[in-house]
Amino acid sequence: MERRIYGIETEFGLTHSVPQGRALGPDETARRLFAPVLAWGRASNVFLPNGGRLYLDVGSHPEYATAEAATLHDVVAQDAAGERIVDDLRAQLQEALDEEGVAGTVHLFKNNVDSAGNSFGSHENYMISRRTEFSRLLQHLLPFLVTRQILVGAGRVHPDGPPPFGSLALGDGAPGYSFSQRADHVWEGSSSATTRSRPMINTRDEPHADAEHYRRLHVITGDSSMSQTTTALKIGTTDVLLRMIEAGQILPDRTLADPAAALRQVSHDLTGTAQLELASGGRRSAVELQREYLEAVTHFVAQHGEHHERLGWVLELWDRGLRAVEEQNSALVDRELDWAIKKKLLDSYARSHGMDFSHPRMAQLDLAYHDTSAHHGLFHMLERRGAVESFVGPQDVERAVQEGPETRARLRGRFVAAARDAGVNSTVDWVHLKLNGEHQQSTVLCKDPFATTDPEVEALIEEISAGRA
Ligand code: ATP
Ligand code: MG
Ligand code: MG
Repeated sequence: MERRIYGIETEFGLTHSVPQGRALGPDETARRLFAPVLAWGRASNVFLPNGGRLYLDVGSHPEYATAEAATLHDVVAQDAAGERIVDDLRAQLQEALDEEGVAGTVHLFKNNVDSAGNSFGSHENYMISRRTEFSRLLQHLLPFLVTRQILVGAGRVHPDGPPPFGSLALGDGAPGYSFSQRADHVWEGSSSATTRSRPMINTRDEPHADAEHYRRLHVITGDSSMSQTTTALKIGTTDVLLRMIEAGQILPDRTLADPAAALRQVSHDLTGTAQLELASGGRRSAVELQREYLEAVTHFVAQHGEHHERLGWVLELWDRGLRAVEEQNSALVDRELDWAIKKKLLDSYARSHGMDFSHPRMAQLDLAYHDTSAHHGLFHMLERRGAVESFVGPQDVERAVQEGPETRARLRGRFVAAARDAGVNSTVDWVHLKLNGEHQQSTVLCKDPFATTDPEVEALIEEISAGRA
């Protein structure tokens, strides 16, 4: 596919903490966080004027799903906008609690594990062609997903060493640092169940588009990224690999004997050299597999051309990220990749305070890196100091808070805003827009995610404004 739709879903961690006394429980904090959403949306599951979706599912993790974007630039901007929108709710709740005289601080985290060891997700969505044989696509994609954490993992401190996984020996129990947050919580390669078995790819077939032509690939194994450049690399590398697979390129079979075990081996081996068993016999390291993918993609791009203007950037950072691991020099990417940015911060703190990863302060700093607050968050502190790179400008993020990317999301956003301003009751999902109540025209189906104009949607918006006049 020359053009593709991308979307990112982020579940956030949320806590209320007090120095002493009783803190609000997780459910209560989440419920209160969503009070303003309920007030204007009449539900805790709403679509927003930027086309994105904000909701509170079972459990107490607020989720933001970006609008569908058609460029790397736009999906990064929408993801950053989502963080801004949910953090704004956090700030509103903090203000309300302060006014009520309730002590304590509300923290929102863009990470994937809480202090009790529960994991929550970050989902990537890629629209793919229905023509591509899905099992072949999975075959080539899974070893890539297992090993890409050495580039795009969010990094995590393990005060007691790697958690055990069956009979697999991971380190000697010494305190350490892993590439990924999510790796220890994924159990199998692909499945249609998300909660029970926690696969890397969810195969539930819900395309949110014309099912005859498209499928939505739902990758649920990645870490949430604080760094925009990490997000861009995560989506950009996966996209170009998909493009090559979709084009029918012949690739060697690197099916892993045990993907879930390999995921953990890779995550806990900062040298990138741990040998992973292949199903066909033989072994490869994460770095070797990633080098193979990068080489194949580079060759493919040389033959078929660059399908978007930032592809050169993606390939350069992909190569540099691998060199950082090969040469054991994380300084090569400590302005662009989360695991290295955070590790630099932790290493320097540990050095100046004479501590190692077993010290509780290390786990606290790890968590604070993911705090979305401009005031408390360590990633955002580094951003302010100019110590990290960005992929889009602040004005792009600002704009993405207000309006949808140039896809059908732009239409959805305008419809949502019009209905909200007019106080008209509506029902929206990724493909439908509906006015509830008495209207000449009520439901529009938007099957084409690339469509930025649609006379029927214009008519609905017209209908809303006519009702207002
Ligand atoms: P769950 O929350 O259970 O994982 P889900 O993945 O179906 O459910 P949402 O949270 O609603 O649902 O997120 C859907 C994601 O799919 C959004 O990020 C959206 O941008 C993206 N998306 C929408 N249309 C398409 C499409 N045609 N192809 C790929 N992705 C799409
Ligand atoms: Mg979701
Ligand atoms: Mg999802």
